[in-house]
Amino acid sequence: VTPQPTTDVPASAALLERATRVIPGGVNSPVRAFRAVGGTPRFMASASGPWLTDVDGNRYVDLICSWGPMILGHAHPDVLEAVNSAAAKGFSFGTPSENEVLLAEEIVSRMDPVDQVRLVNSGTEATMSALRLARGFTGRDVVVKFAGCYHGHVDALLAAAGSGVATFALPDSAGVPRSSAGETIVLPYNDLAALEAAFAERGHEIAAVITEAAPGNMGVVPPAPGFTEGLRRITADHGALLISDEVMTGFRCSPSGYHGLEEHPSGAADLYTFGKVMGGGFPTAAFGGRADVMAMLAPQGPVYQAGTLSGNPVASAAGLATLRGCTPEVYARLDVVSRAIADATSAALTSASVPHTIQWAGSMFSVFFRDAAVTGYDDARDQDTDAFRRFFHAMLGQGVHLPPSAFESWFVSAAHDDAAVDHVLSALPAAARAAATP
Ligand code: PMP
Repeated sequence: VTPQPTTDVPASAALLERATRVIPGGVNSPVRAFRAVGGTPRFMASASGPWLTDVDGNRYVDLICSWGPMILGHAHPDVLEAVNSAAAKGFSFGTPSENEVLLAEEIVSRMDPVDQVRLVNSGTEATMSALRLARGFTGRDVVVKFAGCYHGHVDALLAAAGSGVATFALPDSAGVPRSSAGETIVLPYNDLAALEAAFAERGHEIAAVITEAAPGNMGVVPPAPGFTEGLRRITADHGALLISDEVMTGFRCSPSGYHGLEEHPSGAADLYTFGKVMGGGFPTAAFGGRADVMAMLAPQGPVYQAGTLSGNPVASAAGLATLRGCTPEVYARLDVVSRAIADATSAALTSASVPHTIQWAGSMFSVFFRDAAVTGYDDARDQDTDAFRRFFHAMLGQGVHLPPSAFESWFVSAAHDDAAVDHVLSALPAAARAAATP
């Protein structure tokens, strides 16, 4: 990838050079490194509302929002106040405390199918623990996931390559034991026939099917009508659990996540995973679900799971203040902002004759640089990532920070006011022309 010429960012460039000496690739999470788009990642100095400010003093409208958590915008006064007052009382006790109870109650009250939750520190931990619990509950080892769904860097869930019934996936990462990847069956998303076939062959070995409630990690690919219901029916028929990963969609797509948007005529999932919004930007996440399944967890049951900082009082306060701040007006604003930006993006790309498709899950959307709908991972990969790269850098150069990959949702916040939206809209025509010009 040839990096686009970007505006001069000497302070970010200097930090990247220092970072690269002491941190692999200079980043603590790979997508931040701009590998897919080239150029120098911006090191942020501060953020407020919808705006990011980098160490060179450049300002950007933020369309990453920390990959989802910052639903109220950065440094929201109510969340800041909750964090300050919790921190003043101590950072971590290693004993139970009230804030974690309040946060758990808030989650359970919003999610009908969730009787109990356990708090953890990241989405990865949530899915890893949910898998262990499903295996402990069913006494089975095999897990089914869908290609293009990301559930964190859990060994068994990094297997994404390969398709076809009962094809054991090869690990997608070095360092994942074959045995671990070998217990994962990867199937194409939105393909119930493939799932039926996998269960027909190996149903007695399958502990769980895990899916993103609406995938956002191959770009946004909503479940086809009937797909989620089919997952419920097939898993229930075979005594396997259904795990709905709402780390990204949870509390963002609606007050009760993607679950709250969908009709579930045939019932909800057995287990859910949450993260992002429920931590308000702090490292907090959760998994939860049916009481009889959750009862298998230590200290009550035989499935071990633990954490020094789990249910941290400051992180719980941030999450609670964020969830309480998610009023109906907040969701209405997310809808308005995301529609305005998506519609204008489409209009700009259309007038520059750039093939594109925009797909939605609630107010989450992504722009695929291809002209046909995307129903799964193979479709998602079949797009013009070079056009995206040019588009990305043209937006960045005009002060709009998109996710640095064509396979990601764009995230907005309720703090994206008209000035921020107008700033994005004014950048789009030139970026669309850049996308059109190899
Ligand atoms: N599940 C989903 C659906 C996610 O989007 C992510 C992170 N993007 C994870 C799990 C992992 O969460 P974390 O990065 O907090 O480990």
